Amino acid sequence: MECDKCGRDAVMHAGYSGAHLCDEHFLASVEKRVRRRIRTDSLVPRDASPDDPERWVVGLSGGKDSVVLASILDDTFDRDPRIEIVALTIHEGIEGYRDESVDACVELAADLDIRHELVSYDEEFGVRMDDVVEEDPEGMAPCAYCGVFRRDLLETYAEDLDADLLLTGHNLDDEAQTALMNVLEGDVEQMAKHFDASLGPMDDRTDQAAFVPRAKPLRDIPEKEVALYAHLRDLPAHITECPHASEAFRGEIRELLLKLEEDHPGTRHSIVSGYEEIASMAAERYRGESTPDLRECAECGSRTTREVCRKCRLLESIRAV
Ligand code: SF4
Repeated sequence: MECDKCGRDAVMHAGYSGAHLCDEHFLASVEKRVRRRIRTDSLVPRDASPDDPERWVVGLSGGKDSVVLASILDDTFDRDPRIEIVALTIHEGIEGYRDESVDACVELAADLDIRHELVSYDEEFGVRMDDVVEEDPEGMAPCAYCGVFRRDLLETYAEDLDADLLLTGHNLDDEAQTALMNVLEGDVEQMAKHFDASLGPMDDRTDQAAFVPRAKPLRDIPEKEVALYAHLRDLPAHITECPHASEAFRGEIRELLLKLEEDHPGTRHSIVSGYEEIASMAAERYRGESTPDLRECAECGSRTTREVCRKCRLLESIRAV
């Protein structure tokens, strides 16, 4: 098959658009979509200035998504004095998995010459995910503990680093899965929170005062294209599945979406764009409604609606084993 643009050999065919692209035109197409998303979501404020650069903290796990995101952001803003990129890597304490991906993060940050911060559950909380899985005091899936700890560290470090934006490498497949899960669970309030936390143009979000705002510039790019991009650019991505991966419902949705996309190309794009509209309306619906007051956790000082935050309650039960 030939590239639609230059006639060279195509390396990919996008069923949802019908495009056949060679390596060069494929790489350019991914970069163009990421930059368009940055513009559409108004991530660079109009008053951004080299005198007071915006600090963007990128969650860098070493997997293909975050490695591709950090690389494209660096290509885009390397010579733009209004934006400073900082990479933040979280080590969960998963033997034979995270050690290698941390190496990928260190290599990439050195290649890009960007500041790199590395934090671990062990140093921050005195726990490792390998031990948490073994003890499992709450009878929960590993990802349920891990998600709470990771969210806490991302938020805490984004604030400590004085970030203006916290960027993550969620791709189109991730976003379509989350959208479908929220719809199937019928959780309208969760949709509103999802919108305010990370979707839509920055000006349209409603609840940004409490936390560092989030952004997902890869959310228009299918997972397979992110992987192909990393491969073609020979980026140091670590592609192995976590041995504790346990989100069974997400796995079912993932399979369903892959089948739907195969039979009806464009399904993921339609789901995500329709969901964003619904989530925006949900955010509007809850705007101005009294929400539980945020206060400081009595144990760690992070913001929570309870006296003690979820992370501290989980840590307490793990330490009690
Ligand atoms: Fe943590 Fe689950 Fe991700 Fe593994 S798959 S790193 S346990 S959230």
